[in-house]
Amino acid sequence: MSYTAIVGLQWGDEGKGKVIDYLARDYDVVVRFQGGANAGHSVYADGKSFVFHLIPSGMLWEDVVGVIGPGVVIDPEAFVKEISDLEKTVGDLKGRLFVDPRAHIVMPYHRQEDALFEASSDKPIGTTKKGIGPTNRDRYGRLGIRVGDTLRRDYLREHLRRPYDFNKRVVESYGGVMPPFEEIYEYLLEFGERISPYVADGVLLLEEMERKGARILLEGAQGTYLDLNFGTYPYVTSSHPISGGATIGAGIPPWKINRVIGVFKIYTTRVGEGPFPTEEKGELGDRLRELGGEYGATTGRPRRCGWLDIPMVVYASLVNGVTDLFATKMDVLDRVGTYKAAVGYRLNGRELSFPPAYSADWYGLEPVYEEFESGEGILLEVERRTGVAVTFVSVGKEREAVIERKRR
Ligand code: GDP
Repeated sequence: MSYTAIVGLQWGDEGKGKVIDYLARDYDVVVRFQGGANAGHSVYADGKSFVFHLIPSGMLWEDVVGVIGPGVVIDPEAFVKEISDLEKTVGDLKGRLFVDPRAHIVMPYHRQEDALFEASSDKPIGTTKKGIGPTNRDRYGRLGIRVGDTLRRDYLREHLRRPYDFNKRVVESYGGVMPPFEEIYEYLLEFGERISPYVADGVLLLEEMERKGARILLEGAQGTYLDLNFGTYPYVTSSHPISGGATIGAGIPPWKINRVIGVFKIYTTRVGEGPFPTEEKGELGDRLRELGGEYGATTGRPRRCGWLDIPMVVYASLVNGVTDLFATKMDVLDRVGTYKAAVGYRLNGRELSFPPAYSADWYGLEPVYEEFESGEGILLEVERRTGVAVTFVSVGKEREAVIERKRR
């Protein structure tokens, strides 16, 4: 069997869309295992560009099968639109795109709550306001509605009542107006009808494809420092972007994942709030943002920018069990012309080699920087500290702009 996981080693936006598209030529299936339409993976191929939100990146290759696992949350409108948009480019996706009936649905009231809560809070998380957090809260609170429920009319009516009543109270407590029950019920049935040709049990599907010798790529969205457990809590996402997330998010036994490719950008960016030790708030940050086009693929928000934080990459490699590294955006750093990276931190006079496990300590970190002669110098330092080879380096947004440094 051959399962390869692709994970981000920073705060997301490492360029995973391009990486997955690049690697997908050697794979038969791409599986999304967490996140939702808050993800935005940009792919440029043959002069075409496409931003994937829910559909697995890699589906621009016309023989690649895409599977969306139960760990993903599905926004009905975003999903239907993305299917129509992609079908305009690559043709009918039926028989090639599948969503597990156990994936949860982002309800209209989840989006309402996300927007109302973020707007009312004096310490907002800086979410994409797409309702992902409230959907995952309801998943764990046993109040979720899942894709499969929309295909079972009577069950849905009966089981929508509790989540509806709970969320009505939540929305109203922020001064919002909850849509009537029947309106939501009908909306879900309509959604079910539209997507029913794509719904299939992902476990059985993967087992069948695996038996036929399929090579399977597991696509993580966001990044390790946005992981609900291992990220900069509470400024994190509400799912598990790490390689372990693939096991619970897509039903894949841990021992079957034999390759984990960690993607990192040769500088660092972050969207939203939260600590960022190597952030450059001045002119250098602006240069990285402009040269790297660092604006959110989903929200268009300017990203915060700064130098590569090598201890973050090293620690993330441990958490994910990374077997290969894939560096991106080397062309951008080459245009900036300064090859600076943090190699450790100081905290209250102490030296640290790893990012802290205490949320509070992230705020006092002073990065210890080193300047290198070239991008290659940084890559060698990353390899030395992780003990893992940087197998690939991306040097442009186009599909072919990748240097394979080491034999695969
Ligand atoms: P993701 O969420 O990790 O997939 O990252 P995004 O897709 O949001 O951000 C990556 C952006 O950088 C996209 O616009 C990519 O096309 C672009 N990109 C990826 N790799 C490279 C690279 O090596 N060089 C340049 N210049 N752009 C890149």
